This record gives sequence, structure tokens and C-alpha cells, in this order.
Amino acid sequence: MTTSPNFFPFARLLLAAAVVLASVASASAQGAAKIKVLIVDGQNNHQWATTTPMLKRILEDTGRFTVDVSTSPAAKPAAPRLPKDATPAQKAAHAESLKKYPAVEAAHKAAASGLWAKWRPNFSAYAVVVSNYNGESWPAEVQTAFVTFVKNGGGFVSYHAANNSFPDWPEYNAMIGLGGWGGRNEKSGPYLRLRANGWIKDMTAGPGGGHGPQHEFLVEVRTADHPITRGLPARWMHSKDELYHGLRGPADNVTVLASALSDKTNENEPMLMVIPYGKGRVFHTALGHYVEAVNGFGFQTTFTRGTEWAATGKVTLPAPKAADLSADRAAVREIKAP
Ligand code: ZN
Repeated sequence: MTTSPNFFPFARLLLAAAVVLASVASASAQGAAKIKVLIVDGQNNHQWATTTPMLKRILEDTGRFTVDVSTSPAAKPAAPRLPKDATPAQKAAHAESLKKYPAVEAAHKAAASGLWAKWRPNFSAYAVVVSNYNGESWPAEVQTAFVTFVKNGGGFVSYHAANNSFPDWPEYNAMIGLGGWGGRNEKSGPYLRLRANGWIKDMTAGPGGGHGPQHEFLVEVRTADHPITRGLPARWMHSKDELYHGLRGPADNVTVLASALSDKTNENEPMLMVIPYGKGRVFHTALGHYVEAVNGFGFQTTFTRGTEWAATGKVTLPAPKAADLSADRAAVREIKAP
């Protein structure tokens, strides 16, 4: 059999065309399936510049999400602080910084209003917003856009200290269900307490929000038939983190998915929650203080599943095997902090 000298190049061309077509098809299918996520940060008493890139990477590594970040204007520069047992040189430097601080403060104030006027995250271009923000109030226009976004069916994920934010914004507190600090107390709403008949609202007076020293702790699933927790083990050891206790808020329609026993309150404290808001869905994770916690496989598993659920109402990400959720270092997907 003779073959045209042109056969092989032609066949190669066909094959190449087929490969290109197939990859275009799969890319567009993947593109269509990817969920658009917006992470909001810019102010936080936590290391948001470290954790946001980690959250982005964790989400994108699943292949299920594309992630953009919207960073708000910076917080006011902190006033100079004198270290304990300061040396004379440190005291002199501190006095010098104190003299300069009013000018620093004034320059910040002068720039801030213009920067805030320009900061308009385009929430409605996304399926879900993840907040890594704990800081100054957003401009009224941004608040309204955010409430409208969630009311109309947008997803919202409140990550760790995002639940410290905005103690005086009623719609936000309705979304997160429970919050902490910022002067929160019994006026903010009840604690949620686990009793024999389920989670009850406890109006005992007291502060909202606290935590002891960071440590590894057991996270226990309380609602196993929710898409986020379905197929996960009943409990797993979470890596070193702050165990938030005594959060308070309106606590309406909160489903506690998982809790952890606090040795400060001797109560099962809500760690993972879901809350409906209008047509929208909120996933609230109190976990994830810093790098070690974010690198916990249990954190990553529930964060990615919770984000997918908030965006779509479903979870397609596979549930890992029980052993993978333990604090076993071999099972932890270590993400390098930037
Ligand atoms: Zn923290």
C-alpha cells in the first residue's frame, strides 16, 4: 500500500485540529461551570493580606471557582505605641512619631473620602461574595448594593473576623446570624446554646464574642443532612485556631452545621452555620484565624463546600475520606503563606 507523502502531515493537522477543538470545548465547558467569587478585604485586625491569597488559592485549586479580590481603602494608620519597658531611644522615637501623627492622620483623612467614593465592588457580577473584612463602615451605596445582592439570591460567606464587623448594621447582622466584639452584648441578640431540645436562644446578659489561646480542637457536625456536611465525618480535629465563644446576634433561622466545645464557656459554640437571607444563602465559618487554621484540611473542605453551596444551593465537590479531615499533617494541603 502506498501512502501519499502528504498523508502524515494531513493526519497530524487533523489530529491537532481535533485536540484544539476538544480543549476549546472542555475549556468552555469548565468556564461555564466555574463559579465567580469576589473576596472583599482591605481592613481587618487580622492578617488579611496573608489569608486572602490563601483563600483564593484554596478555592481555585478545586477547579470549581474563579476568584477576584476587591480591596477597600486602608484603615486609619494606628497611633504610635510605646513598647513595654521601652529604652530611652525607643521613648525618644515614640515622642517623635507622636509629634508627626496628627499630620499622618490628617493626610489619611484627606485621601480617604476620595478613595471610599471610588470603591464600588461590583457584587452583582458574582455568584458569591466572601468577606475577609473587619473594619470601618462601608459607604451607604455599597451597603445597599450588598444587601440587594444577597436579597436577590447572591451568596455570602462570612469568614472568621468578618463576624466581628459592622455591629450596628442590622441587615448584615441578620445575614451572619451571630457576631462578636464591637460592643456586642444582649442588645445585639441572644447566644445560641445547645440543649436537649436543640439550639435555643439564650438572652442571658453579657458580652458577645471571646476566645482563649489558640489550640487544636474538635469540630463536631450537628446537622449532617445539609449539602455542606453531607458525607463528612461526624467530627474531626481542627488545626490550631481561635475557638470563638459567646457570639451574639439576631440568630434568626440559623442552622448550626457544626460546633466546638469551648473550655472557656463549657458550651458547644457554633462554628459553621447557614442562614437564609431573602433569596440568598449565607455560609458563616467562625474558623480560620491565621495560616495554620486556614491550612487545616477541615477548614478548607468546609470553606470550599460552603462557598459552592452559598453560590448555587448545591455541593458537587467530593467529600474527603474521614481520615483526611484529621489534623494529621500528611493529609493537610499546606498552602504557603505569601
Ligand atoms: Zn482571629
